[in-house]
Amino acid sequence: MLRRDFLWLLPGLGAGAWLSGCATDPVTGRKTLVMMGKEQEIALDRQHSPHQFSEDYGVSQDGRLNDYLAGVGRQLSSRSHRPDMPYSFRAVNANYVNAYAFPGGSIAATRGILLELEDEDQLAGLLGHEIGHVNARHFAERQAKGTLVQIVALGVGIAAAEKNPAYGELAGLLGNLGGGALLAHYSREDEREADALGMEYMVRSGHNPQGMVDLMELLNRESKRKPNALELMFSTHPMSAERLETARQRAATQYAEASRRPRGRERYMDSTARLRALRPAIQEQQKAEAALAKKAFDTAEQHLRSALAFAPDDYTGLVLMGKTQMALKRPQEAEPYLMRAKAVYPGEAQAVHLSGITKLQLRRPEEALAEFQAYERLLPGNPNTTFLKAYSLDMMQRREAAAQEYFRYLQMTRQGPQAQHAYSRLKAWGMVK
Ligand SMILES: [Zn+2]
Repeated sequence: MLRRDFLWLLPGLGAGAWLSGCATDPVTGRKTLVMMGKEQEIALDRQHSPHQFSEDYGVSQDGRLNDYLAGVGRQLSSRSHRPDMPYSFRAVNANYVNAYAFPGGSIAATRGILLELEDEDQLAGLLGHEIGHVNARHFAERQAKGTLVQIVALGVGIAAAEKNPAYGELAGLLGNLGGGALLAHYSREDEREADALGMEYMVRSGHNPQGMVDLMELLNRESKRKPNALELMFSTHPMSAERLETARQRAATQYAEASRRPRGRERYMDSTARLRALRPAIQEQQKAEAALAKKAFDTAEQHLRSALAFAPDDYTGLVLMGKTQMALKRPQEAEPYLMRAKAVYPGEAQAVHLSGITKLQLRRPEEALAEFQAYERLLPGNPNTTFLKAYSLDMMQRREAAAQEYFRYLQMTRQGPQAQHAYSRLKAWGMVK
């Protein structure tokens, strides 16, 4: 059979479309490059979203809040163009103001943004917009265009610890506060599409589309009051006056009738009661994070003391204080905060990781290694862990085992100070040229 004949036998696929790799996206109606299939989107999501959740201090342990988000999210996603995606909707413990979606449908809102919202329709606007990104397959499109931020190893700057082995320079680590290295950064065009789809899903699921307008107004207002906390929101979701204007217009014309629906304020207030009770602690932590970003560690420490006086068992507060003590080069002081963090949220990986680093700084490599092994069981796939295991083994003078881990690390990452360190150790041992 000729190749051309064979191509025509493929159901529903003209040879032209097949050869050019082009298709019309059923949701957006645009011609797009066919980049990844649904299975691949889900696989990417499963691989990366757990790391982002952990960077955001884990999924909230407030069951009522998560159930509420899941309920509202499900109403919207079941009426979307891709109702069969494995969606999940969760609150994460980060204080910065943002929400995000991974390509398989893992959607999260930070407690920072949930604290700002005032009713269910605003929440529906927020989640609807993220569902819009999943439906228009913006993540896959970013990747095909090569504009997706490279998934990079989160630098811990441990190699610099060589010069001052007791502490180590943690600038790299603190640079990740509010992180977002794994998040897609969308274009203005993507934002327009996600807004339009989000509003469509809101209306279909019985919400008042005015919630989306209010959400945008609120974010614009807040960005003037707390620019630091909204930085990531606006870099991942570019905001514009035009977006707000379009939403207003749409709510007033196309969706005028739905804009008269009653607003779900009480339900929102009831479901977020526990979170809102933490407001004073969260606000102190936001001030601490702003100070940390400026390397004003003493100021950060003061705010965190207030935050912890108000909410002593808040996981985020404890981890932030641990990081601040590490930045102040006081691993001894950092340790009890991280131990407490591990106790209040067993299974959340970030405190385990940081606790391993403090143990390295305290020159207790056996304990450090145990922490990194525990971390890897909780959250596999972070190249840093491989490096830190190698570093611990190296400190324990277990050269063979250390070399194996350094080799594994170099297979994953070739650049940066850690890679240089790994290479120089292997070279010193005569294992590479
Ligand atoms: Zn967006």
